[in-house]
Amino acid sequence: MIAVLKHGTTEAQTQHLIAWLKNMNLDVHISQGQEVTILGLIGDTSRVDMELLGSLDIVETVKRVSEPFKQVNRKFHPLDSVITAGNAKIGGGNFAMIAGPCSVESEEQIIKVATAVKEAGANLLRGGAFKPRTSPYAFQGMGGKGIELLLKAKAATGLPIVTEIMNISTLDLFTDVDVIQVGARNMQNFDLLKELGKTNKPILLKRGLANTLQELLMSAEYIMSEGNENVMLCERGIRTFETYTRNTLDLSAITVLQELTHLPVIVDPSHATGKARLVPPMAYAAAAAGADGVMVEVHNNPACALCDGAQSLTPAQFAELNQKVQQIREVLK
Ligand code: PEP
Ligand code: MN
Repeated sequence: MIAVLKHGTTEAQTQHLIAWLKNMNLDVHISQGQEVTILGLIGDTSRVDMELLGSLDIVETVKRVSEPFKQVNRKFHPLDSVITAGNAKIGGGNFAMIAGPCSVESEEQIIKVATAVKEAGANLLRGGAFKPRTSPYAFQGMGGKGIELLLKAKAATGLPIVTEIMNISTLDLFTDVDVIQVGARNMQNFDLLKELGKTNKPILLKRGLANTLQELLMSAEYIMSEGNENVMLCERGIRTFETYTRNTLDLSAITVLQELTHLPVIVDPSHATGKARLVPPMAYAAAAAGADGVMVEVHNNPACALCDGAQSLTPAQFAELNQKVQQIREVLK
């Protein structure tokens, strides 16, 4: 349920109303816009007398929110959320150009790629240290050492870093990481989501390979319901009957999510297609559809990458991609 307060309601009146609502065992989420203040009521709202609430002097309207996701719901928070990660801002018109290798492989590799993508216009660096691989025999990532190398790349370039967590027991290693990624395979690892909700780190939550948009939003709700409001969503392709591409990029997810939620929506065309030559056109399509950012795998030598070489762009290809994405964004302004 949401209560929209009348323009001119004082802070004291708002607090008085909140105290009354909390007394009914409800959590109250406040969204303070320039024009309106919206109170989002979370919990068992069946006991709230809508007519009584709506008749109060300071209340403009009261509406039930039928969707099961509340804090991620745009009805609770009409303005776009803007997430700050290091020196980057994402959402509300701020675009995230996230680039870097699938996995951190060595100091030389990550510094080379970081320097190149920074030069080409990326504003965040990605790189996996803990890798969820389909085969237990495949390269599993460098682990804690990989995060140390990412931090060196951050020190060398100033780029905030994005890297995936697979197990909450490693959280201490992420203290200086700017954005913690939750991978597709962990989208419904609810214990992990709850623990990340207790931190204040920006979280990049990727859509599961076979999950609906509502399920993605419910996973984001798990994080937000624990207090962490810094959540970004990532469409990375879903599994369909099509096998030509690694996954099927659901471009309509961008618009649907932006209608339903105030959280930034990032698109990952690399894992969506699995083929380097398909990455630029899908990045352009994502930018044209209004995504709040793209995340692209870039390797200094894709043919020798330890993970996902076939979908990795060279730094030169990435530079061209970034230029065109920025041009598309200009046209849309
Ligand atoms: C990744 O971004 O490195 C990754 C493993 O992606 P996903 O979880 O989307 O498969
Ligand atoms: Mn990858």
